[in-house]
Amino acid sequence: MGDECIFCKIVSGEIPAKKIFENEATFAFLDINPSAKGHSLVIPKNHHATMLDIPEAELKDVISTVQKVGAAIMKATNADGFNVLQNNREAAGQVIPHLHFHVIPRTIGDSLKLSFGSQKAEEEELKEYEKRVKEQL
Ligand SMILES: [Zn+2]
Repeated sequence: MGDECIFCKIVSGEIPAKKIFENEATFAFLDINPSAKGHSLVIPKNHHATMLDIPEAELKDVISTVQKVGAAIMKATNADGFNVLQNNREAAGQVIPHLHFHVIPRTIGDSLKLSFGSQKAEEEELKEYEKRVKEQL
C-alpha cells in the first residue's frame, strides 16, 4: 500500500520535501499548497490511511509532534494562533490517503478562508519558512 504513496516517498526521501522535523515515529514538512505561509503537515512515518487505521500509541506520537510543530510555527511566523485540521477519507476532503494533520498559522484579522490546494508556494518562500520553523524546533 505504501509503495505508491506520495507521503511514504517523502518519508523515505524518494520525493523531496521541505522537512522541518523528524523523530522516530513522525515526520513534518511544509505543504507546497499552503493556506498560509508556514502551513505544515505532520504525518506518521508508517503508512496508515486515516485516523481509524493508526494504532493509538502511534497517534499519540503524531499529536505530540503536532503540538511541537504548532508552537514552532507560531514563533517562526509571528502568528497569533494556529489551526489543526485533519481529514478522514475522500468524503471529508482527504486527498492523500496517508494520515496527516495540517498545522496552519493564523494571525488576528487574516481573514483566511480555509481551502486546500488553492495556491502554490514559490520555492524561495518554502525555503524561507523551512528555515524559520526549523530554527524553532
Ligand atoms: Zn503512505
